[in-house]
Amino acid sequence: MKFCLYLPDMSIDKKYVINQRTLLYEVKKRSRASRLFKPMAFFAVSLVMAVAYFWIYASVLGLELPKTALLKKKNAEWCSKMEVLNRQLDGYEEALAALQMRDDDIYRSIFGMNEIPAEVRNAGFGGVNRYAHLDGADPDGLLKSTAIRLDVLTKRTCVQSRSFDEVALLSKRAGDMASCIPAIPPVNPDPAKFRLSSSFGYRKDPIHGRTTMHRGVDFAMKPGNPVYATGDGVVESVKFEFFGYGNQVVIDHGFGYKTRYAHLKAVGVVEGMKIKRGECVGQSGNSGKSSGPHLHYEVIYKGNQINPANYYDLSITPEEYATMVQNTADASKNITLHPSHQRRERKRS
Ligand SMILES: [Zn+2]
Repeated sequence: MKFCLYLPDMSIDKKYVINQRTLLYEVKKRSRASRLFKPMAFFAVSLVMAVAYFWIYASVLGLELPKTALLKKKNAEWCSKMEVLNRQLDGYEEALAALQMRDDDIYRSIFGMNEIPAEVRNAGFGGVNRYAHLDGADPDGLLKSTAIRLDVLTKRTCVQSRSFDEVALLSKRAGDMASCIPAIPPVNPDPAKFRLSSSFGYRKDPIHGRTTMHRGVDFAMKPGNPVYATGDGVVESVKFEFFGYGNQVVIDHGFGYKTRYAHLKAVGVVEGMKIKRGECVGQSGNSGKSSGPHLHYEVIYKGNQINPANYYDLSITPEEYATMVQNTADASKNITLHPSHQRRERKRS
């Protein structure tokens, strides 16, 4: 007969039995399966209890794990910071839009510069997807949309900064502007020598009789009268069109302005030549498609013909006009024969 007992001073994990033959306690040998059963059962029960506990904790009581709660709190803080950042971006975009509007409507307009197209101002960064790295870490797209806004804002600021540089450059030439913009009639306004035969606007064409837009002003006068530049500038083109303007000169005055002098008999300037207001461009004539001797004069602003009558004052007297032309001619002589040059000329002679 064998006795099985647990000894309090021995390890509780081992079972001991008394050997009838030796009357000694010996460790009861257990099978491998029985040794594994207990921890496995313990593990299984623990697992079931843990799942049950988690289910009760999360689903029944609606509680969160501390780590989840912490992450949620951090996420809420992050979202709130992003919201503040986006609100600040709203403010910056608004301020920049006001600057852009003022730039286009006032500064660029004053100096005859074209508006910067909206697609240039608001262009983002095209090509490769530069925000791909944000896709995984940003499921709701908040970070990506903020990054795009920041990039666009940065680019818009750069465009605006460049525009201000251009305006600043032109503003240094503000004094030149007054002498460049067309401001006098292209011929001496002597009523005995000319008459306004056609003004700017719709009229019956003198050649084919159809109603067409006349994009200039016609000064009817005998061929051979001097025609003068109405503002400082550079001769952009000198050409002849048999079925059009005949001999014509176009002067680029800068600041968005150009003037055209057409149907000339003779041209006294060449392309690329710098010219001053009151300098002779050529002689009036009847070349090209013309129904009679006259000067066709146009003022072109940013590529569109506008009414030249707004750019001269016919109340100037012929004497005043002649004096102005003479002063221009004298000034030109002074430029070509500066005192130092004159001295050299004398030495040579
Ligand atoms: Zn005309």
